Amino acid sequence: MTMIAQKNSIDYAKSLDAKDELSSYRDRFYIPKINGQDSVYFTGNSLGLQPKNLINYLQQELDDWAKYGVEGHFDAKNPWFSYHELLTPKIAKIVGALNSEVVVTHSLTTNLHLLMVSFYQPKGERYKILCEQKAFPSDQYALESQVRFHGYDPSESLIEVGPRDGEHTIRHEDVIAAIKEHGSEIALVMIGGVNYYSGQLFNMEEITKAGHEVGAMVGFDLAHAAGNVILKLHDWQVDFAAWCSYKYLNSSPGGVSGMFVHQNHENKPELPRFAGWWGYDKDSRFMMEPGFKPMKGAEGWQLSNAPVLGMAAHLASLDIFDEVGMDKLRSKSDELTAYLEEIIEDITQRKGHLCQFEIITPKDQSERGAQLSILAHGKGKAMFDALTKQGVIADWREPNVIRIAPVPLYNSFEDVYRFGQYLENAIS
Ligand SMILES: *Cc1c(COP(=O)(O)O)cnc(C)c1O
Repeated sequence: MTMIAQKNSIDYAKSLDAKDELSSYRDRFYIPKINGQDSVYFTGNSLGLQPKNLINYLQQELDDWAKYGVEGHFDAKNPWFSYHELLTPKIAKIVGALNSEVVVTHSLTTNLHLLMVSFYQPKGERYKILCEQKAFPSDQYALESQVRFHGYDPSESLIEVGPRDGEHTIRHEDVIAAIKEHGSEIALVMIGGVNYYSGQLFNMEEITKAGHEVGAMVGFDLAHAAGNVILKLHDWQVDFAAWCSYKYLNSSPGGVSGMFVHQNHENKPELPRFAGWWGYDKDSRFMMEPGFKPMKGAEGWQLSNAPVLGMAAHLASLDIFDEVGMDKLRSKSDELTAYLEEIIEDITQRKGHLCQFEIITPKDQSERGAQLSILAHGKGKAMFDALTKQGVIADWREPNVIRIAPVPLYNSFEDVYRFGQYLENAIS
Protein backbone atom coordinates (compact mmCIF):
# COMPACT_ATOMS: atom_id res chain seq x y z
CA MET A 1 0.00 0.00 0.00
CA THR A 2 1.18 3.49 -0.74
CA MET A 3 1.34 6.11 1.96
CA ILE A 4 -1.76 7.78 0.59
CA ALA A 5 -3.69 4.52 0.43
CA GLN A 6 -2.99 3.95 4.13
CA LYS A 7 -4.44 7.32 4.92
CA ASN A 8 -7.60 6.43 3.02
CA SER A 9 -9.09 4.42 5.87
CA ILE A 10 -11.74 4.98 8.50
CA ASP A 11 -9.24 4.39 11.31
CA TYR A 12 -6.89 7.01 10.02
CA ALA A 13 -9.74 9.52 9.55
CA LYS A 14 -10.94 8.86 13.09
CA SER A 15 -7.44 9.36 14.46
CA LEU A 16 -7.34 12.79 12.80
CA ASP A 17 -10.70 13.67 14.33
CA ALA A 18 -9.46 12.57 17.75
CA LYS A 19 -6.51 14.94 17.44
CA ASP A 20 -8.63 17.84 16.16
CA GLU A 21 -9.13 20.43 18.88
CA LEU A 22 -12.11 21.92 16.99
CA SER A 23 -13.95 18.60 16.61
CA SER A 24 -16.53 19.43 19.31
CA TYR A 25 -17.86 22.38 17.30
CA ARG A 26 -19.65 19.99 14.97
CA ASP A 27 -22.18 19.35 17.75
CA ARG A 28 -23.08 23.00 17.81
CA PHE A 29 -24.61 22.84 14.33
CA TYR A 30 -27.55 20.98 12.83
CA ILE A 31 -26.19 18.54 10.23
CA PRO A 32 -28.83 17.72 7.57
CA LYS A 33 -29.59 14.00 7.36
CA ILE A 34 -29.97 11.77 4.33
CA ASN A 35 -31.25 8.20 4.60
CA GLY A 36 -31.39 8.63 8.37
CA GLN A 37 -27.73 9.45 8.81
CA ASP A 38 -25.65 12.62 8.81
CA SER A 39 -25.10 13.80 5.26
CA VAL A 40 -21.63 14.66 4.07
CA TYR A 41 -22.42 18.37 3.92
CA PHE A 42 -19.82 19.96 1.66
CA THR A 43 -21.81 23.06 0.67
CA GLY A 44 -20.94 25.43 3.48
CA ASN A 45 -19.53 27.59 0.68
CA SER A 46 -23.07 28.02 -0.59
CA LEU A 47 -25.20 28.00 2.55
CA GLY A 48 -23.61 27.49 5.96
CA LEU A 49 -25.34 25.31 8.55
CA GLN A 50 -27.54 26.49 11.39
CA PRO A 51 -25.94 26.91 14.82
CA LYS A 52 -28.16 25.10 17.33
CA ASN A 53 -28.29 28.10 19.64
CA LEU A 54 -29.31 30.53 16.90
CA ILE A 55 -32.89 30.16 18.04
CA ASN A 56 -32.00 31.77 21.41
CA TYR A 57 -30.65 34.86 19.68
CA LEU A 58 -33.87 35.17 17.68
CA GLN A 59 -36.05 34.45 20.68
CA GLN A 60 -34.47 37.29 22.64
CA GLU A 61 -35.44 39.81 19.97
CA LEU A 62 -38.91 38.32 19.47
CA ASP A 63 -39.52 38.51 23.22
CA ASP A 64 -38.33 42.10 23.41
CA TRP A 65 -40.46 43.04 20.44
CA ALA A 66 -43.50 41.46 22.15
CA LYS A 67 -42.65 43.17 25.41
CA TYR A 68 -41.67 46.64 24.25
CA GLY A 69 -42.94 47.19 20.72
CA VAL A 70 -41.26 50.26 19.27
CA GLU A 71 -39.61 51.06 22.60
CA GLY A 72 -37.35 48.09 21.93
CA HIS A 73 -35.22 50.38 19.78
CA PHE A 74 -33.84 51.74 23.06
CA ASP A 75 -35.22 49.49 25.83
CA ALA A 76 -34.53 46.01 24.46
CA LYS A 77 -31.75 44.07 26.15
CA ASN A 78 -29.77 44.68 22.95
CA PRO A 79 -31.23 47.99 21.77
CA TRP A 80 -32.14 47.76 18.09
CA PHE A 81 -31.04 51.33 17.42
CA SER A 82 -27.45 50.20 17.74
CA TYR A 83 -27.87 46.43 17.24
CA HIS A 84 -25.47 46.28 14.31
CA GLU A 85 -22.70 47.59 16.56
CA LEU A 86 -22.73 44.27 18.41
CA LEU A 87 -21.54 42.58 15.23
CA THR A 88 -18.91 45.14 14.26
CA PRO A 89 -15.88 44.08 16.35
CA LYS A 90 -16.48 40.41 15.58
CA ILE A 91 -16.70 40.82 11.83
CA ALA A 92 -13.79 43.29 11.92
CA LYS A 93 -11.56 40.52 13.31
CA ILE A 94 -12.66 38.10 10.60
CA VAL A 95 -11.77 40.44 7.74
CA GLY A 96 -8.77 42.09 9.40
CA ALA A 97 -10.20 45.58 9.77
CA LEU A 98 -10.55 48.36 12.30
CA ASN A 99 -14.00 48.53 13.84
CA SER A 100 -14.63 51.86 12.12
CA GLU A 101 -13.92 50.26 8.73
CA VAL A 102 -16.74 47.71 8.75
CA VAL A 103 -20.48 47.61 9.03
CA VAL A 104 -23.01 44.82 8.68
CA THR A 105 -25.94 45.94 6.57
CA HIS A 106 -28.03 45.28 3.42
CA SER A 107 -27.29 42.42 1.02
CA LEU A 108 -24.10 41.72 -0.90
CA THR A 109 -24.99 42.90 -4.40
CA THR A 110 -26.61 46.01 -2.93
CA ASN A 111 -23.42 46.78 -1.03
CA LEU A 112 -21.26 46.27 -4.11
CA HIS A 113 -23.37 48.80 -5.96
CA LEU A 114 -23.29 51.31 -3.11
CA LEU A 115 -19.52 51.02 -2.86
CA MET A 116 -19.02 51.33 -6.61
CA VAL A 117 -21.12 54.49 -6.60
CA SER A 118 -18.37 55.92 -4.41
CA PHE A 119 -15.28 54.18 -5.70
CA TYR A 120 -15.89 53.72 -9.41
CA GLN A 121 -15.46 57.23 -10.72
CA PRO A 122 -14.62 57.01 -14.43
CA LYS A 123 -13.11 60.15 -15.88
CA GLY A 124 -11.36 60.93 -19.19
CA GLU A 125 -9.34 57.97 -20.39
CA ARG A 126 -9.53 56.30 -16.96
CA TYR A 127 -12.90 54.57 -17.11
CA LYS A 128 -12.30 50.80 -17.22
CA ILE A 129 -12.88 48.11 -14.62
CA LEU A 130 -10.49 45.18 -14.41
CA CYS A 131 -12.07 42.00 -13.10
CA GLU A 132 -11.58 38.24 -13.24
CA GLN A 133 -13.09 36.14 -16.01
CA LYS A 134 -15.98 33.97 -14.79
CA ALA A 135 -16.83 36.29 -11.95
CA PHE A 136 -20.01 35.30 -10.12
CA PRO A 137 -23.00 36.24 -12.32
CA SER A 138 -24.39 38.82 -9.90
CA ASP A 139 -21.00 40.57 -9.90
CA GLN A 140 -20.88 40.53 -13.70
CA TYR A 141 -24.31 42.15 -13.88
CA ALA A 142 -23.36 44.67 -11.22
CA LEU A 143 -20.16 45.64 -13.06
CA GLU A 144 -21.88 45.87 -16.44
CA SER A 145 -24.69 48.00 -15.11
CA GLN A 146 -22.29 50.33 -13.28
CA VAL A 147 -20.36 50.85 -16.51
CA ARG A 148 -23.58 51.53 -18.43
CA PHE A 149 -24.82 53.84 -15.71
CA HIS A 150 -21.83 56.08 -16.45
CA GLY A 151 -22.55 55.94 -20.18
CA TYR A 152 -19.85 53.48 -21.24
CA ASP A 153 -20.04 50.28 -23.21
CA PRO A 154 -19.27 47.18 -21.11
CA SER A 155 -17.79 45.32 -24.10
CA GLU A 156 -14.88 47.71 -24.17
CA SER A 157 -14.86 48.96 -20.59
CA LEU A 158 -14.53 45.66 -18.75
CA ILE A 159 -11.07 44.09 -18.84
CA GLU A 160 -11.42 40.42 -17.92
CA VAL A 161 -8.31 38.53 -16.90
CA GLY A 162 -8.71 34.81 -17.55
CA PRO A 163 -6.73 31.57 -17.43
CA ARG A 164 -4.22 30.86 -20.20
CA ASP A 165 -5.24 28.34 -22.87
CA GLY A 166 -5.49 24.87 -21.38
CA GLU A 167 -5.36 26.18 -17.81
CA HIS A 168 -8.21 26.55 -15.33
CA THR A 169 -6.99 29.15 -12.89
CA ILE A 170 -5.65 32.62 -13.41
CA ARG A 171 -1.94 33.19 -12.95
CA HIS A 172 -1.16 35.87 -10.43
CA GLU A 173 1.51 37.32 -12.71
CA ASP A 174 -1.10 37.69 -15.46
CA VAL A 175 -3.37 39.73 -13.18
CA ILE A 176 -0.48 42.01 -12.26
CA ALA A 177 0.65 42.27 -15.90
CA ALA A 178 -2.88 43.22 -17.02
CA ILE A 179 -3.05 45.93 -14.36
CA LYS A 180 0.27 47.33 -15.56
CA GLU A 181 -0.62 47.01 -19.23
CA HIS A 182 -3.90 48.91 -18.93
CA GLY A 183 -2.59 51.18 -16.15
CA SER A 184 -3.90 54.64 -16.89
CA GLU A 185 -7.19 53.34 -18.33
CA ILE A 186 -8.22 51.53 -15.15
CA ALA A 187 -10.56 53.32 -12.77
CA LEU A 188 -11.28 50.26 -10.65
CA VAL A 189 -9.91 46.78 -10.00
CA MET A 190 -12.72 44.58 -8.66
CA ILE A 191 -12.04 40.89 -8.10
CA GLY A 192 -13.57 38.04 -6.11
CA GLY A 193 -11.02 37.32 -3.35
CA VAL A 194 -11.76 33.61 -3.76
CA ASN A 195 -13.27 32.71 -7.11
CA TYR A 196 -16.58 30.92 -6.54
CA TYR A 197 -16.11 28.52 -9.46
CA SER A 198 -12.49 27.40 -9.24
CA GLY A 199 -11.89 28.06 -5.54
CA GLN A 200 -8.78 30.07 -6.44
CA LEU A 201 -7.62 32.50 -3.74
CA PHE A 202 -6.01 35.64 -5.15
CA ASN A 203 -3.11 37.51 -3.62
CA MET A 204 -5.14 40.51 -2.60
CA GLU A 205 -2.26 42.38 -1.04
CA GLU A 206 -0.21 42.44 -4.23
CA ILE A 207 -3.20 43.10 -6.46
CA THR A 208 -4.07 46.09 -4.28
CA LYS A 209 -0.53 47.37 -4.47
CA ALA A 210 -0.41 46.98 -8.25
CA GLY A 211 -3.78 48.72 -8.62
CA HIS A 212 -2.70 51.65 -6.51
CA GLU A 213 0.56 51.94 -8.41
CA VAL A 214 -1.35 52.68 -11.60
CA GLY A 215 -3.73 55.04 -9.81
CA ALA A 216 -6.81 52.78 -9.64
CA MET A 217 -9.16 52.01 -6.77
CA VAL A 218 -9.18 48.39 -5.62
CA GLY A 219 -12.14 46.49 -4.18
CA PHE A 220 -12.90 42.83 -3.51
CA ASP A 221 -16.00 40.69 -3.35
CA LEU A 222 -15.30 38.42 -0.39
CA ALA A 223 -18.39 36.21 -0.56
CA HIS A 224 -16.18 33.10 -0.73
CA ALA A 225 -13.37 34.48 1.38
CA ALA A 226 -14.98 35.85 4.56
CA GLY A 227 -14.83 33.20 7.27
CA ASN A 228 -12.82 30.96 4.94
CA VAL A 229 -9.33 32.45 4.62
CA ILE A 230 -7.19 34.93 6.56
CA LEU A 231 -7.93 38.49 5.50
CA LYS A 232 -6.03 41.64 6.43
CA LEU A 233 -7.99 44.26 4.57
CA HIS A 234 -6.67 47.17 6.61
CA ASP A 235 -3.00 46.24 6.30
CA TRP A 236 -3.36 45.41 2.64
CA GLN A 237 -4.73 48.92 2.02
CA VAL A 238 -7.78 47.57 0.18
CA ASP A 239 -10.10 50.47 -0.64
CA PHE A 240 -13.38 48.66 -0.18
CA ALA A 241 -14.90 45.20 0.06
CA ALA A 242 -18.23 43.47 0.59
CA TRP A 243 -19.27 39.93 1.43
CA CYS A 244 -22.37 37.93 2.20
CA SER A 245 -22.64 36.13 5.51
CA TYR A 246 -24.71 33.07 4.64
CA LYS A 247 -21.87 31.04 3.14
CA TYR A 248 -18.93 30.33 5.47
CA LEU A 249 -20.42 32.65 8.09
CA ASN A 250 -23.66 30.66 8.61
CA SER A 251 -25.97 33.63 9.07
CA SER A 252 -29.15 32.06 7.55
CA PRO A 253 -30.44 32.05 3.96
CA GLY A 254 -30.04 35.47 2.37
CA GLY A 255 -28.53 36.73 5.64
CA VAL A 256 -27.30 40.27 6.02
CA SER A 257 -24.07 41.33 4.28
CA GLY A 258 -21.01 43.23 5.42
CA MET A 259 -18.95 46.02 3.93
CA PHE A 260 -15.50 47.45 4.44
CA VAL A 261 -14.27 50.94 3.62
CA HIS A 262 -10.63 51.66 4.38
CA GLN A 263 -9.81 54.24 7.01
CA ASN A 264 -8.11 56.23 4.23
CA HIS A 265 -11.60 57.11 3.00
CA GLU A 266 -13.36 57.57 6.34
CA ASN A 267 -13.45 61.32 6.29
CA LYS A 268 -14.43 62.14 2.76
CA PRO A 269 -17.93 63.59 2.79
CA GLU A 270 -17.22 64.72 -0.78
CA LEU A 271 -17.27 61.13 -2.09
CA PRO A 272 -20.35 60.54 -4.22
CA ARG A 273 -22.71 58.18 -2.48
CA PHE A 274 -26.31 57.05 -2.43
CA ALA A 275 -27.40 58.05 1.01
CA GLY A 276 -30.05 57.00 3.51
CA TRP A 277 -30.91 58.04 7.05
CA TRP A 278 -28.94 55.30 8.76
CA GLY A 279 -25.73 56.62 7.27
CA TYR A 280 -26.43 60.02 8.78
CA ASP A 281 -24.37 61.24 11.70
CA LYS A 282 -25.75 59.30 14.65
CA ASP A 283 -25.89 62.12 17.18
CA SER A 284 -28.03 64.38 15.06
CA ARG A 285 -29.90 61.74 13.01
CA PHE A 286 -33.21 62.37 14.68
CA MET A 287 -33.12 66.10 14.16
CA MET A 288 -34.17 64.97 10.68
CA GLU A 289 -32.67 68.02 9.04
CA PRO A 290 -32.19 68.34 5.30
CA GLY A 291 -28.66 67.98 3.92
CA PHE A 292 -26.87 64.66 4.34
CA LYS A 293 -24.12 64.54 6.95
CA PRO A 294 -22.47 61.09 6.70
CA MET A 295 -21.17 59.14 9.65
CA LYS A 296 -17.44 58.68 9.69
CA GLY A 297 -16.21 55.34 8.38
CA ALA A 298 -18.13 52.41 6.88
CA GLU A 299 -21.29 53.23 8.83
CA GLY A 300 -21.71 56.26 6.58
CA TRP A 301 -22.73 53.88 3.76
CA GLN A 302 -25.73 52.47 5.64
CA LEU A 303 -29.11 53.28 4.16
CA SER A 304 -31.63 51.70 6.44
CA ASN A 305 -32.19 50.66 10.01
CA ALA A 306 -31.02 47.16 10.83
CA PRO A 307 -33.07 44.04 10.06
CA VAL A 308 -32.67 42.88 13.64
CA LEU A 309 -33.79 39.26 13.21
CA GLY A 310 -31.29 38.70 10.42
CA MET A 311 -28.61 40.41 12.47
CA ALA A 312 -29.42 38.24 15.48
CA ALA A 313 -29.02 35.12 13.38
CA HIS A 314 -25.68 36.41 12.12
CA LEU A 315 -24.52 37.21 15.65
CA ALA A 316 -25.10 33.62 16.76
CA SER A 317 -22.47 32.39 14.33
CA LEU A 318 -20.13 35.35 14.82
CA ASP A 319 -19.96 34.48 18.51
CA ILE A 320 -18.71 31.02 17.55
CA PHE A 321 -16.10 32.49 15.19
CA ASP A 322 -15.04 34.82 17.96
CA GLU A 323 -14.53 31.89 20.29
CA VAL A 324 -12.47 29.85 17.81
CA GLY A 325 -10.59 32.56 15.90
CA MET A 326 -9.68 32.52 12.23
CA ASP A 327 -6.13 31.22 12.74
CA LYS A 328 -7.26 27.90 14.19
CA LEU A 329 -10.03 27.59 11.63
CA ARG A 330 -7.72 28.22 8.73
CA SER A 331 -5.15 25.78 9.98
CA LYS A 332 -7.74 22.99 10.35
CA SER A 333 -9.17 23.98 6.99
CA ASP A 334 -5.79 23.46 5.31
CA GLU A 335 -5.53 19.97 6.78
CA LEU A 336 -9.08 19.02 5.94
CA THR A 337 -8.83 20.13 2.32
CA ALA A 338 -5.39 18.56 1.90
CA TYR A 339 -6.81 15.28 3.23
CA LEU A 340 -9.69 15.49 0.77
CA GLU A 341 -7.22 16.09 -2.02
CA GLU A 342 -5.09 13.10 -0.99
CA ILE A 343 -8.09 10.81 -0.90
CA ILE A 344 -9.19 11.89 -4.35
CA GLU A 345 -5.63 11.34 -5.59
CA ASP A 346 -5.59 7.85 -4.08
CA ILE A 347 -8.80 7.00 -5.93
CA THR A 348 -7.42 8.45 -9.16
CA GLN A 349 -4.24 6.39 -8.83
CA ARG A 350 -6.06 3.14 -8.17
CA LYS A 351 -9.00 3.58 -10.52
CA GLY A 352 -7.11 5.31 -13.31
CA HIS A 353 -9.22 5.18 -16.44
CA LEU A 354 -12.51 5.30 -14.52
CA CYS A 355 -11.64 8.72 -13.16
CA GLN A 356 -12.60 11.12 -15.89
CA PHE A 357 -12.16 14.18 -13.77
CA GLU A 358 -9.52 16.50 -12.36
CA ILE A 359 -9.23 18.97 -9.53
CA ILE A 360 -8.89 22.47 -10.99
CA THR A 361 -8.41 24.33 -7.70
CA PRO A 362 -4.76 25.33 -7.11
CA LYS A 363 -2.67 22.75 -5.23
CA ASP A 364 -0.79 25.44 -3.37
CA GLN A 365 -2.64 26.08 -0.11
CA SER A 366 -1.80 29.78 -0.20
CA GLU A 367 -3.89 29.94 -3.39
CA ARG A 368 -7.04 28.27 -2.12
CA GLY A 369 -9.42 28.12 0.83
CA ALA A 370 -11.63 25.21 1.88
CA GLN A 371 -13.09 24.48 -1.54
CA LEU A 372 -11.98 22.02 -4.21
CA SER A 373 -13.59 22.17 -7.64
CA ILE A 374 -13.69 18.95 -9.61
CA LEU A 375 -13.96 19.31 -13.35
CA ALA A 376 -15.63 16.25 -14.91
CA HIS A 377 -14.68 15.24 -18.43
CA GLY A 378 -17.02 12.29 -18.74
CA LYS A 379 -20.38 11.68 -17.13
CA GLY A 380 -20.07 14.37 -14.51
CA LYS A 381 -23.74 14.82 -13.80
CA ALA A 382 -24.26 11.07 -13.35
CA MET A 383 -21.33 10.99 -10.91
CA PHE A 384 -22.79 13.94 -9.03
CA ASP A 385 -26.23 12.30 -8.85
CA ALA A 386 -24.67 9.09 -7.54
CA LEU A 387 -22.89 11.06 -4.82
CA THR A 388 -26.12 12.78 -3.84
CA LYS A 389 -27.98 9.48 -3.61
CA GLN A 390 -25.44 8.14 -1.14
CA GLY A 391 -25.68 11.13 1.17
CA VAL A 392 -23.38 13.86 -0.15
CA ILE A 393 -24.68 17.41 -0.35
CA ALA A 394 -22.42 19.12 -2.88
CA ASP A 395 -22.85 21.71 -5.58
CA TRP A 396 -23.15 21.15 -9.31
CA ARG A 397 -22.25 24.00 -11.65
CA GLU A 398 -23.03 23.81 -15.34
CA PRO A 399 -21.53 22.68 -17.54
CA ASN A 400 -19.39 20.21 -15.58
CA VAL A 401 -17.99 21.25 -12.23
CA ILE A 402 -18.64 19.76 -8.79
CA ARG A 403 -17.71 22.09 -5.97
CA ILE A 404 -17.01 20.60 -2.57
CA ALA A 405 -16.02 22.49 0.52
CA PRO A 406 -15.22 20.75 3.78
CA VAL A 407 -15.82 23.46 6.38
CA PRO A 408 -13.52 23.39 9.41
CA LEU A 409 -16.21 24.47 11.90
CA TYR A 410 -18.44 21.47 11.42
CA ASN A 411 -16.99 19.01 8.92
CA SER A 412 -14.89 16.10 10.15
CA PHE A 413 -12.07 14.07 8.68
CA GLU A 414 -14.53 11.19 8.75
CA ASP A 415 -16.78 13.20 6.42
CA VAL A 416 -13.86 13.44 4.02
CA TYR A 417 -13.22 9.71 4.23
CA ARG A 418 -16.90 8.94 3.61
CA PHE A 419 -16.88 11.26 0.61
CA GLY A 420 -14.03 9.25 -0.84
CA GLN A 421 -15.95 5.99 -0.38
CA TYR A 422 -19.01 7.43 -2.08
CA LEU A 423 -16.91 8.84 -4.91
CA GLU A 424 -15.36 5.44 -5.47
CA ASN A 425 -18.80 3.81 -5.59
CA ALA A 426 -20.03 6.54 -7.89
CA ILE A 427 -17.39 5.96 -10.54
CA SER A 428 -17.48 2.16 -10.39
C1 LIG B 1 -22.85 34.24 -3.30
C2 LIG B 1 -22.32 35.35 -4.09
C3 LIG B 1 -23.12 36.46 -4.42
C4 LIG B 1 -24.56 36.53 -4.00
O1 LIG B 1 -25.02 37.84 -3.93
P1 LIG B 1 -26.32 38.22 -3.10
O2 LIG B 1 -26.46 39.68 -3.30
O3 LIG B 1 -26.06 37.83 -1.66
O4 LIG B 1 -27.47 37.43 -3.63
C5 LIG B 1 -22.54 37.49 -5.14
N1 LIG B 1 -21.25 37.44 -5.52
C6 LIG B 1 -20.47 36.38 -5.23
C7 LIG B 1 -19.04 36.36 -5.67
C8 LIG B 1 -20.98 35.30 -4.53
O5 LIG B 1 -20.22 34.25 -4.26
